[in-house]
Amino acid sequence: MDCIFCKITKGEIPATFVAESEHAVAFNDISPRQPVHVLVVPRAHYTDVAELAVSDAAVLADVIQLGVRVAELTSTGSFRLQFNTGAEAGQTVFHAHAHITSKTPRA
Ligand code: 5GP
Ligand code: ZN
Repeated sequence: MDCIFCKITKGEIPATFVAESEHAVAFNDISPRQPVHVLVVPRAHYTDVAELAVSDAAVLADVIQLGVRVAELTSTGSFRLQFNTGAEAGQTVFHAHAHITSKTPRA
């Protein structure tokens, strides 16, 4: 399967990793839309968070816990944790991922 996030999670394409966990990795978005913009991506391929939620609750929990940890590591203030789900909602990469965004980066 030709999936860019599968290639990044396997280390076949470079990315700037900021944290990882048993089931997920976190790396900077290539085109950040906020001062902090990190993607949290399960190592296994699921099309979107809806498929992940019905497939593996432990992986879903791991993705969200890693997202909160990334927010604490990279930001001093409030943050968003967002899953775009479906093309009409703005999803462009069809491997489930959470966006962590914040206006207050940690120096
Ligand atoms: P979506 O629009 O699917 O919710 O989010 C996909 C995100 O992946 C976008 O914010 C886009 O900038 C990011 N992205 C796409 N290709 C790459 C890549 O090759 N490397 C990294 N680090 N981010 C990517
Ligand atoms: Zn994938």
